[in-house]
Amino acid sequence: TLVSTGNVEPDETWDDIDQVDPAEASLLNKLLRRTVVENDRVHVEVIQSDPTSPLFSVKTFEELRLKTELLKGVYSMGFNRPSKIQETALPLLLAHPPGNLVAQSQSGTGKTAAFSLAMLSIVDPSNKWTQCLCIAPTYELALQIGQVIEHMGQFCPDVKVAYAIRGNRVERGVKLQEQIVIGTPGTLLDWCTKYKVIDLKKISMFVLDEADVMIDTQGFRDQSIRIQRALRKDCQMLLFSATFEDSLWDFAERVIPDANVIRLKREEQTLDNIKQFHVLCNNKEEKLEALYNLYGTLTIAQAIIFCRTRATASWLSAILKQEGHQVALLSGDLTVEQRAAVIERFRNGKEKVLVTTNVCSRGIDVEQVSIVVNFDLPVDMEGNADHDTYLHRIGRSGRFGKRGFAVNMVEGDRDTRILHQIQEHFHVPYKLQSLPGPSTCR
Ligand code: ADP
Repeated sequence: TLVSTGNVEPDETWDDIDQVDPAEASLLNKLLRRTVVENDRVHVEVIQSDPTSPLFSVKTFEELRLKTELLKGVYSMGFNRPSKIQETALPLLLAHPPGNLVAQSQSGTGKTAAFSLAMLSIVDPSNKWTQCLCIAPTYELALQIGQVIEHMGQFCPDVKVAYAIRGNRVERGVKLQEQIVIGTPGTLLDWCTKYKVIDLKKISMFVLDEADVMIDTQGFRDQSIRIQRALRKDCQMLLFSATFEDSLWDFAERVIPDANVIRLKREEQTLDNIKQFHVLCNNKEEKLEALYNLYGTLTIAQAIIFCRTRATASWLSAILKQEGHQVALLSGDLTVEQRAAVIERFRNGKEKVLVTTNVCSRGIDVEQVSIVVNFDLPVDMEGNADHDTYLHRIGRSGRFGKRGFAVNMVEGDRDTRILHQIQEHFHVPYKLQSLPGPSTCR
């Protein structure tokens, strides 16, 4: 189908333009992550519900006085010491009486591990009923959390986990024996209210994970609130999120009473150490030519080339392959597992160049990338410069204090306008320098 409204070019359809799906992006991150994200350029901000109570922070897991089986479980995961957010979150989560918590930090900083540990330490394995509930935005994310709990709890054989996700059936009125239940809001609500397999009055810990992704999904917010309303007042309530916008804060205030708040704040990302260039072209073919001129430079380290549509991305990667270059292609028509495999190969240096669409614009760290090419400039639905995406795309090239390069391909008047918007938005000192055009480089 050809769609000619809005910002879709005559030969494009909306289907062909990959949008970032936050739940998918989050899952991809989890599949790719092997170690905790540690960064010196962060600081922890804590707001206590009771400012007069002392604030504890731990540097070791021993200080938490966990059950031996649990400590063994933590070490079996290869954790040596608490991550930045865990240092403050864990003592709060394990305190007597327990505190409610709203915690925000970027993905990969150890939030899931923190509440998994808290759940495992609060359950009474001899009680065969559900004591902890955890809500996640998707089926896959629920399973990921469960895997962490099962791994960490491997020496606590009497603790069992059930999944309230689509497809899993329960018998009406027959109470679950699993102490921990993880699920998506709709199914979980059904299990509690319609099938009555969980007694919400017996829940002592309630966790809302990936709350930012959750409130983006129609219905999830209300379903979560309905579950939360039926809990006991002294049930410990926790909310985790990677981002923190006003809408999330409103939601958090509704579902987590008297919350302690912990936020891991990153320094603003700047483009100071990234040199930005642009090349003026008349059409796709000239862009390709300009790319060939750059190619030797791209492959000194590793490069990512961003295209607007899946069609352009696959066209470009096919041509580059024909020319004998080793390139990887990452776009939205791959499953999340396939994407993870492509990124993994690229990370391991199997290919030097990755051609992609917006699916890869944020959240994925590949340390070695030193050049980013915007084969198409990032635009929003209205056809204006998408500054956020620009920052995410090119910001990755200058990580860890290294120098990065970005090359913008500018095609025609529309792109020139977008380029000016970008220049204006990031104003000085992010000066864009012009590279010779394709014809002069021949
Ligand atoms: P988040 O929920 O914030 O995305 P996770 O809890 O999933 O973060 O942790 C990210 C990765 O770091 C996982 O691979 C996890 O096993 C690992 N991890 C978590 N806590 C620690 C720790 N204290 N030490 C080492 N690795 C950790």
